[in-house]
Amino acid sequence: MSKEQKIWLDGELVNQADAKISVFDHGLLYGDGVFEGIRFYNGRVFKLIEHVERLFNSAKAIMLKMPWTLEEVCDIVCETIRANELRDGYVRLVVTRGAGGLGMNPYLCETPSMFCIAASIQLYPEEYYTKGLEIVTCSTRRPSHATLSPQVKSLNYLNNVMAKIECVKAGVMEGIMLNENGTVAECTGDNLFIIKKGVIATPKISDGALDGITRETIFELCDELGVGIFEETLTRYDVYTADEVFLTGTAAEVIPVVKYDDREIGDGNVGEITKHLINAYTECVNSDVSSTEIYEQDAE
Ligand code: PMP
Repeated sequence: MSKEQKIWLDGELVNQADAKISVFDHGLLYGDGVFEGIRFYNGRVFKLIEHVERLFNSAKAIMLKMPWTLEEVCDIVCETIRANELRDGYVRLVVTRGAGGLGMNPYLCETPSMFCIAASIQLYPEEYYTKGLEIVTCSTRRPSHATLSPQVKSLNYLNNVMAKIECVKAGVMEGIMLNENGTVAECTGDNLFIIKKGVIATPKISDGALDGITRETIFELCDELGVGIFEETLTRYDVYTADEVFLTGTAAEVIPVVKYDDREIGDGNVGEITKHLINAYTECVNSDVSSTEIYEQDAE
């Protein structure tokens, strides 16, 4: 029998079966909380501080006062991975407003709850990284900046879930969400990039793209490789007529797109620049010296 997964929950490592949250928790009742998805490779957490900083920014935006410091949260992530004896995998870090009354008033929730899950994952089957994905346009829009900022990684992912339902019904694994102006924001759980005549473009943050940590890594890699990359307002037409398209996300990493709304992207095969970036990203996550060591024996 495989060993039971250990979950970090409010200061303790508990077995998965004992990791329980109150039915009065406002994360459950109102989507009142924030989260992060984090990857670790070869016993090191990739961009841990950036993820935890984004978690603290999301918490600040919803006025959720974190009872842990940034350093403590980083340590909790590493401790959870160690408890599960993993070297490669994915971490889900969730902070909720905590248990309160049935009413909405968040000030009645005494203390936030935090839990951390470390697991092995494979988001997309391996073949999609070589053959590419098909995607569609979802009718569900990305929430506008006039509502809760789309930069807040809150537990309210219902728009994304609605868009994901459209993807599943269309028989594809991802889909583009447009913003309220009808231009491209991003995908349901990934950022989007297009390549035209050797130049890369991705929607602006102000167009509803999440300030993705993988997105940021692509900017850094393009800088190192001398490839031009810009933030631009992109329309569906821009994506239809791109030479190459790819998506990025912590879980997805860099994944090519070869078909969009029934139109082949370029010649319908994975493009050369995308292949190059997939390799560069793999190399980066496995060799990044700024990654956080999880196990002491690795930290010589
Ligand atoms: N957009 C959305 C809506 C997401 O949930 C994610 C995953 N966090 C991304 C983009 C990609 O962001 P990152 O590279 O930071 O994982």
